Amino acid sequence: MGLALVVGGSRGIGRAIAVDLARAGYDIWLTYHRNCEAAEAAQAEVERLGRKCKITAVDAAHHEETKAALADAADKNPPDVVVFNAGITRDNLMVWMTREEWDAVLTTNLDGFFNVITAVLFPMLREKRGRIIVISSTSGQAGQPGQVNYSASKAGLIGAAKALAREVGPRNILVNVVAPGVIETDMTSELPRDQIVGMIPLRRFGRVEEVAAVVRFLCSDECTYIHGQVIGVNGGLLT
Ligand code: NDP
Repeated sequence: MGLALVVGGSRGIGRAIAVDLARAGYDIWLTYHRNCEAAEAAQAEVERLGRKCKITAVDAAHHEETKAALADAADKNPPDVVVFNAGITRDNLMVWMTREEWDAVLTTNLDGFFNVITAVLFPMLREKRGRIIVISSTSGQAGQPGQVNYSASKAGLIGAAKALAREVGPRNILVNVVAPGVIETDMTSELPRDQIVGMIPLRRFGRVEEVAAVVRFLCSDECTYIHGQVIGVNGGLLT
């Protein structure tokens, strides 16, 4: 199947995506930020499936660091799939939000996309094939109180992916966005579950495997004409 780069593949949704793509036959190149132990555990899970797995530490928020970590390797061995999944929250009401909270979220979630894609895009264009999957959020589609920074970053990713789809479609690179609702991961472990579940028509949080399955389909040979789309995986939270 080729090589899939999963940026932020050490935990949660990214890890499930890496494992599912490995199950589909991709070798995996996964990146993490700080949690080396989690990255090694994800690597072991991929290798148990009989696929190769390389892990690279990179802070996607830093342009030069990301370029140094990804560009040469991508030039030598261009990924067939790139999943931009790295993301963080620093929730606060806008009236109290600090510059640091705004910057941390925007530089990781949105600048990170720029840093990663510019590091790998040229070799992908050269190959004239590939898939780029961007993990946004229902918050970026609908807006979420307490998450003006996060919603802005995730809405920005949708605009960026749609524009990129128009640029690289003629080179046979399909670009799509997956927008999860509330999924069981470390990121959502502190949320007031009872309050939130009542707002979700399916009355539960989503599972990481439910997001990964959609990404796997978007990267499969069966998926050849979905391009520039935003696919919600949100239990009906946003219709
Ligand atoms: P987790 O916090 O469980 O995992 C985040 C992943 O991103 C980890 O692999 C982490 O690496 C990596 N990461 C964090 N910061 C950086 C950085 N600066 N540079 C590179 N990698 C980084 O998050 P989730 O699995 O919950 O979320 C994954 C994505 O899905 C995010 O983009 C999130 O916004 C989005 N999402 C999540 C939802 C949810 O309900 N969970 C809902 C909608 C969207 P490390 O392990 O080293 O920290």
